[in-house]
Amino acid sequence: MSDIKKYSYFEGKIVPDSEAKVSIQTHALQYGTAVFGGIRGYFDKATDNVYIFRLNEHLTRLSNSAKIVQLNLDKSAEQMKEIILELVDKCGYKENIYIRPFVYTSALQLSPRFHDVKADIAIYVLQLNDYLDTQNGLKTMVSSWRRYSDTSMPTLSKVSGGYVNSALAKSEAVQNGCDEAIFLDSRGFVSEGSAENIFLVRNGKLITPPLTSSILEGITRRSVLEMATNVGIETEIRDITRSELYIADEVFFSGTGVQLAWVKEIDKRKIGNGAIGKISKKLRDLFFDVVTNKNSEYRAWLTPVYKNQF
Ligand code: PMP
Repeated sequence: MSDIKKYSYFEGKIVPDSEAKVSIQTHALQYGTAVFGGIRGYFDKATDNVYIFRLNEHLTRLSNSAKIVQLNLDKSAEQMKEIILELVDKCGYKENIYIRPFVYTSALQLSPRFHDVKADIAIYVLQLNDYLDTQNGLKTMVSSWRRYSDTSMPTLSKVSGGYVNSALAKSEAVQNGCDEAIFLDSRGFVSEGSAENIFLVRNGKLITPPLTSSILEGITRRSVLEMATNVGIETEIRDITRSELYIADEVFFSGTGVQLAWVKEIDKRKIGNGAIGKISKKLRDLFFDVVTNKNSEYRAWLTPVYKNQF
């Protein structure tokens, strides 16, 4: 839209996008020494406002991500929230958006490390609708790449370097005619997708792997578990084997980017009857109602960007 003004938060202030640039010598660019968040805001026509989904939870995870790797995030969650709201407000978005805050080693310095190296915060905002199909079902494959384990790199920190693992799996899947990859963890149990958590349904029960399966602790995952419980669906967090995926009644992914996207095929096996399952549909529809401000029960999960409209 023409009335969008492009700004980012960079080196302590909100600046036009064209000024938010780093040197090619930037430490984080060489070593992946950064942590980041991915947050969605949804435009609601009825109230003419944008609602950011679970902003506090995302900022807590960002702060924990930084703490785990010892990156210095010198702003409180409250300060980060104010900056994000000011930034989106200044840009004037009236559409679905994606907010990307990150903390990165900004020094022009050699040697991979997290200590004794200057870090900075940056935030940018994009317009973003679906990036994976949430309607027609995804074709997936179990990746030949294993999800890295917490003994090599912290899985509960959303650390930039870790996305090399994701990129390898995603490219392998797409180059083999699939939409998305499914990782096994180092023990051989189901972990997650390349950038999303995974759920399966068997005999009416919703099942998802535990944190000990090398997953990122997804905020959408937590929300799905909570919504499922609220509508009377039994949930279980436990290890899942590869072969159990093939005989699941339903499988779907959850994540900020992917939202709720159902899986129709894994390694050439049709999941269920190849159509969206009852529980996946129920949770997907509820999820989209919640994020777009159509379900007042979950208002506490939404932060409006523009003032005086709640
Ligand atoms: N796993 C990975 C590896 C991810 O990158 C993401 C996206 N942040 C998720 C899971 C889902 O997390 P969330 O629901 O918080 O977006």
